[in-house]
Amino acid sequence: MAKRIAIVGAGPGGLATALRLVAQGYAVEVFEARDRVGGRMGGLDQGPYGFDTGPTILQLPRLYDDLFAQAGLNRADYIPFLPVEPYTRVRFWDHTHLDLTTDQDQLKAQLAAIRPDLPAAFDRWYAQQQRQYARGYEPYLGQPARSLLGYLKLEELPAALGFRPWETLYQHFWNAFRDERLVYAFSYPAKYLGMHPTLSASVFSLIPYVELADGVWHPQGGFRALAQAIARAITDLGGRIHLNCPVQQIALRGRQATGVVLSTGETVAADGVVVNGDFARAVQDLLPPAVRGKYSDRYFARKQFSCSTFMLYLGLNRRYDLPHHQIYLSAHIRRRDRPFIDDSALDAVDPPFYVCNPTVTDPTSAPPGHSTLYVLVPIPHTGYGVDWAQEKQAYRDFVISRLPKLGFDNVVDHIQTETCYTANTWQDAYSVYLGAVFNLSHGLTQLGPFRPPIRSETVTGLYWVGGAVHPGSGLMTILEAAKHTAQFVRSDLPLSGNSTGTKGAGS
Ligand SMILES: Cc1cc2nc3c(=O)[nH]c(=O)nc-3n(C[C@H](O)[C@H](O)[C@H](O)COP(=O)(O)OP(=O)(O)OC[C@H]3O[C@@H](n4cnc5c(N)ncnc54)[C@H](O)[C@@H]3O)c2cc1C
Repeated sequence: MAKRIAIVGAGPGGLATALRLVAQGYAVEVFEARDRVGGRMGGLDQGPYGFDTGPTILQLPRLYDDLFAQAGLNRADYIPFLPVEPYTRVRFWDHTHLDLTTDQDQLKAQLAAIRPDLPAAFDRWYAQQQRQYARGYEPYLGQPARSLLGYLKLEELPAALGFRPWETLYQHFWNAFRDERLVYAFSYPAKYLGMHPTLSASVFSLIPYVELADGVWHPQGGFRALAQAIARAITDLGGRIHLNCPVQQIALRGRQATGVVLSTGETVAADGVVVNGDFARAVQDLLPPAVRGKYSDRYFARKQFSCSTFMLYLGLNRRYDLPHHQIYLSAHIRRRDRPFIDDSALDAVDPPFYVCNPTVTDPTSAPPGHSTLYVLVPIPHTGYGVDWAQEKQAYRDFVISRLPKLGFDNVVDHIQTETCYTANTWQDAYSVYLGAVFNLSHGLTQLGPFRPPIRSETVTGLYWVGGAVHPGSGLMTILEAAKHTAQFVRSDLPLSGNSTGTKGAGS
């Protein structure tokens, strides 16, 4: 009989791990608390409008191709990806803007208009990043966490030092370009790791590099369609996904995971358990204190968590001929004082924000002539005590009033449907600790060997996958993590002879 694996949560990490394991011949059951798959990328429907709720930027399509290919499937048959080009318009506090694009001639023409030496500076930076990516991706992202000493392998040191880990992301881009607009345009993704560029490690310069080199993509039908496509592949290969099925605790015999206990009281036996629920929340909800090891409530109280996000999902009876992705970098992005660098207070004056206008690339989520907008503003996580019952309506009005900064005029006259999320929504409806949507932040003391590992340190047969554990948050990272998780399961719980790799090509 095939070994049974129970997976708690159908977020991206849970789904990708399930597809890898079912393809290898494991009997996989996924238990998801919500009524749909995808977790933060599950999306929502409002009348004739469909919205992505979380991720809107897809990097490195090859990771998804590989996920489906190892299962003997063709990703494009399940979910086509559309290129977004130019991929992001960044508008600055001084009313100038930059269109980020993989077309380097177009990019450099814009840089030359800012300062004549910038195209050459860009070439130097790009060549250096190309080398770093080639040397650094595999040892630092492509492998499971190692001990601190394991990170100091002699042959990998040149790659590590090439990242100049003692520099911040801000310093990295300032040294390269000496223009604050470019510094923030390229380092803004750090926000999505829970860090201000002046606090974030320079190694994250690889994210803008990946986008400039490889582009940004949009799954047709949205990211919710991507989640559904992976779920379909799982069930096509014989895996089972149970929706509306919260897990109440991990079933244990001593320090051995033996399955999951559902909220109905039913126990489902399994040889191994993979938890995709948010790490901090799931440790506290699903494990008794005696087997948590160092992950006590105090441990989490001492850690740094990312910002949360205020979200508006608007169905509109008109379209805006504006870019798919736009970021407004307000003057406040340049402030170095708290709360501007740690998102500890609500900025109701001049916050940076992001708007996704996906209908220009993919009109499938709105009726003809209509569109959807997704507005994201970084806000404090729930640990900072903003009273959203009090603030929500006023902040919504304020955010709508800022949309003309990105060219979205008179939006209020065209709203047909509207949904608003605060930090409390992420915390309560998505089971995210503190509503900190980008998880444990990614400072040097919470990365690599200092981040919770995938294979449980305290319970045999228990694995964690998702944005809060190694290597970190974001889809590309989590897809790598799913590969590592499947490898751990395979080495700890090998399949007997004829059930090995029967369904896919194996990993
Ligand atoms: C607004 C926003 C924008 C983002 N933008 C991007 C982007 O553009 N690009 C990018 O790469 N990343 C982006 N991210 C980050 C990305 O969405 C997350 O890193 C990713 O979704 C986290 O996935 P995960 O595998 O950790 O699972 P999650 O998405 O957290 O899903 C976990 C699932 O587990 C379920 N669960 C929890 N507890 C239980 C239980 N006890 N029983 C059963 N089920 C349970 C939950 O209901 C949930 O469905 C964004 C996130 C947000 C919120």
